[in-house]
Amino acid sequence: MKNIAIIGAGTMGNGIAHTFAQFDYKVSLIDISKESLDKGIATITKNLDRMVAKEKISEDDKNRTLSNITTYTDMAKGAEYAGLVVEAATENEKIKLDIFRELDKVCPDETILASNTSSIPITKIAAVTNRPKQVIGMHFMNPVPIMKLVEIIRGYNTSDETTSTIVELSKNLKKVPTEVNDYPGFVANRILMPMINEAVETLYNNVAGVKEIDTVMKLGMAHPMGPLQLADFIGLDVCLSILEVMYDGFKNPKYAPCPLLVNMVRAGKMGVKSGEGFYDYSESKKAEKVSEQFTS
Ligand code: NAD
Repeated sequence: MKNIAIIGAGTMGNGIAHTFAQFDYKVSLIDISKESLDKGIATITKNLDRMVAKEKISEDDKNRTLSNITTYTDMAKGAEYAGLVVEAATENEKIKLDIFRELDKVCPDETILASNTSSIPITKIAAVTNRPKQVIGMHFMNPVPIMKLVEIIRGYNTSDETTSTIVELSKNLKKVPTEVNDYPGFVANRILMPMINEAVETLYNNVAGVKEIDTVMKLGMAHPMGPLQLADFIGLDVCLSILEVMYDGFKNPKYAPCPLLVNMVRAGKMGVKSGEGFYDYSESKKAEKVSEQFTS
């Protein structure tokens, strides 16, 4: 399994491509948007340059990593020889189901289809394919080249063989795979998102300001980043989608997204990626500072 196709070149897709390419897998990075592909390659290059500057890798390592990545806007072409596809497209159920229907048609029968979804049920995704035993969740954390965890989500029909293949593959990437079952939000987001939502609610209720809320959680709980800053980093639209999936999945009001979060997403304030969220990232330097703080 040396040929890996990654669907989506956004925040997560480019990090996943970077990680596989660094370990000498041949990566097809696929996105419907040529602009996203160009931006994705620029981000990978910038992150590799930073690693060269810190003497963590050599210039040769950087060039080898980049040469392992080929970009495609045509999914059929990019995925036709893949042993594994990791889908990291927009967190939207319809988009993902359409992608998996298409992948099931264009990929060889033995190809494993993984999703990096934060919350959409793997069993639901698997059900639109003719290979539900070979569909699995491979939930990387942001920023992918740095974060060790891969939450491995077994769908209702995922086979032991598929699971053990993906566990071993994750170890080859020097990650720590952790198996969980397929319930809304899995483990990571089931615990993280209510905390972020409560931080937004605390702001909405005027209990404290953005900086104060983040400072309490950073200095008081030893979190490396406050929950509002983390929400900006994840993307407020992504946080909202995950909360909506959990609210819908459990039918429990404790997962209801805070109206302030809903309004901010409606207003286009998505966090770092849109230039503004709970913090202002309008100067590109500020955004870099946030991500460096997290990644260093
Ligand atoms: P993003 O918005 O940064 O990128 C999504 C990319 O998908 C875009 O480049 C878009 O052009 C592309 N895309 C949309 N439809 C497509 C299609 N049909 N075919 C190919 N490409 C398509 O999103 P992201 O933050 O990278 O999230 C991607 C996935 O990873 C989501 O499922 C999200 O829940 C999950 N995730 C995100 C984080 C995070 O911190 N952002 C963490 C873990 C998991």
